[in-house]
Amino acid sequence: MSYCVNCGVELDATARACPLCHTPVQNPNRPVDAELPPPFPSRRKEVQPASKKELALLISAMFASVAVLCGVLNLFFLHSGRPWSLYVVGAAVMLWLWLVPPLLLRGMPLWVRLLLDSCAVGVYVYLISIDLHGQRWFLGLALPIILTGGAIVTALGLILSRGRSILSSVTLIIGAVGLFVVGIELFVDRWMGGSYEPGWSIVVATVCIALIIPLLVVRHRPALRDEARRRFHM
Ligand SMILES: [Zn+2]
Repeated sequence: MSYCVNCGVELDATARACPLCHTPVQNPNRPVDAELPPPFPSRRKEVQPASKKELALLISAMFASVAVLCGVLNLFFLHSGRPWSLYVVGAAVMLWLWLVPPLLLRGMPLWVRLLLDSCAVGVYVYLISIDLHGQRWFLGLALPIILTGGAIVTALGLILSRGRSILSSVTLIIGAVGLFVVGIELFVDRWMGGSYEPGWSIVVATVCIALIIPLLVVRHRPALRDEARRRFHM
């Protein structure tokens, strides 16, 4: 039994050099055995990457079978006069759109992904509104909120995909949240009473602005920015 003189690792009888630190092995009492097969393969092989197509197929099959099974149950066995399976089918479609297209389309821009995700949420809420006979609230309240949220998220994805710093990204995300919250209250007020009276959303938006101002100051002061980067390991 030989040990590496440099790092002390136990050496195989066939090793000409230490596998860890590459120090040549010289043991006069036990010369290197060239006859025995080496313990490690001499040729490097690539590890087969996980197939994204197979994973996408598996996820699709899983969602499809859940949707079909629930549809069949709803139609023939558990039909209480309500299309409850629409909830499951809608959730399956939404999750499928969230998970599978990004797997198949490599290099899909972030904003396209977010746009697709928003559309999926819209489709799901639409299916729910069919079951609850809520076409009015869907068109009057849910759709404007989803469209606004989708537009904000897509725009954010478009801006952020151009490689922003963490500081800029956080500032933009906080700003987007403030904008979205004001939009929600606007649509809720219009839906409930008609006129827009800013209330709780202004409080949230003010908090967002209060957070954005110091972030902007830090961003535009090189000394502060470098200090923030050091402290938060950015
Ligand atoms: Zn060694």
